[in-house]
Amino acid sequence: MTTLAPGQTIGILGDGQLGRMMAIAAAELGFKTHIFGQEKNSPAAQVANANTIADYTDKVALRKFASSVDVVTLEFENIPTDTLNFLSPLIPVRPGRKVLEITQDRHLEKSFVNSLGVPTAPFANVESLEELRQAVERIGTPAILKTRRDGYDGKGQVKINSATEIDKAWETLGGKASILEGFVPFELEISIVAARDIHGNVATYCPVENRHKNHILDVTIAPANILSTVSEHATELATKIVQNLDLVGLVAVEMFVARDGDVLVNELAPRPHNSGHWTIEACTTSQFRQSIRAAAGLSLGDPTAHSNALMRNLIGDDADHWNDILQHPEMSLHLYGKTESRPGRKMGHVTRLFPLNVPPKV
Ligand code: AMP
Repeated sequence: MTTLAPGQTIGILGDGQLGRMMAIAAAELGFKTHIFGQEKNSPAAQVANANTIADYTDKVALRKFASSVDVVTLEFENIPTDTLNFLSPLIPVRPGRKVLEITQDRHLEKSFVNSLGVPTAPFANVESLEELRQAVERIGTPAILKTRRDGYDGKGQVKINSATEIDKAWETLGGKASILEGFVPFELEISIVAARDIHGNVATYCPVENRHKNHILDVTIAPANILSTVSEHATELATKIVQNLDLVGLVAVEMFVARDGDVLVNELAPRPHNSGHWTIEACTTSQFRQSIRAAAGLSLGDPTAHSNALMRNLIGDDADHWNDILQHPEMSLHLYGKTESRPGRKMGHVTRLFPLNVPPKV
């Protein structure tokens, strides 16, 4: 099993802000990074040692990339699985192809989660309008129709409030293979970032609460204000998932907490996650250092939080107020080096710490 030593190079597939913060963490640990992405002067490439700009299907570029790095990891789960198939015989890829196959497809992902005895909202696979009608009959309304692949930040999904909205919903998603999911009247949304090393050891961060605005994460409150029994249960579920995914790296497990304390898993992301950015300031080992340690085949660090934290995303022109934020010395500002601000685009984030006995104020 390959383990890296300082000075060696970690290849990262994907070039956004997650790759940027992974590359910074890698540099802190003495590693070099090589980013493989599509954008010139991308957030990740700005802080890395090398950059390949090429399509994920470009075999010549992939072969050259593989020969210039010591291990490959990723910051984005929608890398084509063929890319990983091509790279795997050449270089260790962590996490591997099987993990992406499951997490790129909502139906496979939810079926995998249920196969572990871990609950999700009720769901049905839908490949035609007729199947959607049958699914609505079985699951009832309200329900949410989600494309099986390529959905994020609320894209590729539509709520169905009553049977009269079925045709419109099917049309809105372009008749793509989808799942219909029962609507969960949750009390709050939480997530847990779990890490697993090459030997199978697991480390989990505490559950955090996530609040969204326009389907995009707005704030993360660490830790989530839930009963310790709920927190322990959610952590057990996340641990079961990371162990059975057989993954080397991180997985963020997004969950719904119902009023009665029931926990349902919504989604998995096999990489550092926006809801884990608070760990940079508040934990002994940040999620980014943890992902680099796992990818490098090293032992995991301590995920314990030494502070509570509030993380707020800077979306679109929120980031224009960077100088106002800097007037508050208690705020830790992170900007991702994106030159063009667009509505809904994640431009940066701000973290504020609180003592462990003080709940973060939103
Ligand atoms: P997703 O893309 O699956 O993470 O969904 C994006 C957001 O939509 C979630 O964070 C929830 O706020 C909401 N959502 C998704 N699925 C459901 C559901 N089954 N019931 C209620 N709300 C949901």
